[in-house]
Amino acid sequence: MSAIINDIEIIKAESSNITAVDFDNLTFGSVFSDHMLVCDYKDGKWHKPMIMPYQPVTLDPSAKIFHYGQSVFEGMKAYKDAEDNVWLFRPEQNCKRLNISSHRLAIPELPEAYFMEGLKALLQLDKDWIPTKAGSSLYIRPFIFASGNGFHASPADAYKFIICTAPSGAYFSGDVKVLIEETYSRSANGGVGFAKAGGNYAGQFYPTQLAKAKGYQQVIWTDDNNHEYIEEAGAMNIFIRINDTLITGPTSDRILDGITRKSIIELAEAENIPVEVRKITVTEVVDAAKNGTLKEMFGAGTAAVISPISGFGYKGTDYDLPKNDDTYANYLKKRITDIQTNKGEDPFGWRVKV
Ligand SMILES: *Cc1c(COP(=O)(O)O)cnc(C)c1O
Repeated sequence: MSAIINDIEIIKAESSNITAVDFDNLTFGSVFSDHMLVCDYKDGKWHKPMIMPYQPVTLDPSAKIFHYGQSVFEGMKAYKDAEDNVWLFRPEQNCKRLNISSHRLAIPELPEAYFMEGLKALLQLDKDWIPTKAGSSLYIRPFIFASGNGFHASPADAYKFIICTAPSGAYFSGDVKVLIEETYSRSANGGVGFAKAGGNYAGQFYPTQLAKAKGYQQVIWTDDNNHEYIEEAGAMNIFIRINDTLITGPTSDRILDGITRKSIIELAEAENIPVEVRKITVTEVVDAAKNGTLKEMFGAGTAAVISPISGFGYKGTDYDLPKNDDTYANYLKKRITDIQTNKGEDPFGWRVKV
């Protein structure tokens, strides 16, 4: 599983598309770097990855990804510091989680070296695509899908692991107003909510469209049983500050084990910010909003790092959060991004040089 691969085959793009990219005005994940890593599973094993120009993938219409949604993905970022060094943030965690997700979707485990060394080789080749402007980074999308054919509802016999990268700016712009969900669920006990499975996101789009039509940008997911507990904020983990205590729900088979979430918990503990990992009821949050003890709410995930919430809607009433710049959100976001971009000390050893 940990074999070293030092001779990844590389087919270079004949010309680069980089001059067509406006690095000062990047959106999120909409332009793609010159190369991608591709690795095939067939005949019962993963074959050595190779790097090739970014290009379409050709699949048979009966490929199982189209019919049974057997797919998982990851989201990561690469940063470049002032000395042109390239950094990743806890990449081994993404590799581990990809295999946790795969396991749940009956996708064969990918050797760690194919992920880590494949990614490093790809980043070295497309190093010039890593933005340096504050708030920008190279978003990395590793994913696996069932490329094997057949209408039989069973796991495919062939898969593709691909890594594409996209120079990206900020994920959200402006304040995020959220709606606490009372009808729909993103996950259930015994389900796939803890996995980064493609279908989890497809299932979120419709309830999110409904929330958007009502003037909210995101949905706060609650438990599938009684919609009594706060679980996640869109595709992010959620943190709630009541008085000076930062609270987040425990991970479970319904809640994704976010790397940003666990980093925030460790960082807050190291900085003596009181943190509680426990279930949070909707009632507790509404009461705290009413009596003025609700100080902050924010989402946490790789794409936005920390995304402050300006207010929430629940049962037809809107609640505003206090406007304040001296927040845990701002403080923790700066600490994490300073670690990620090699601007600050990294006492945890999270930063990995490429
Ligand atoms: C990816 C994701 C997160 C955040 O995980 P990170 O590792 O911090 O990027 C949280 N919730 C869901 C549902 C996700 O898909």
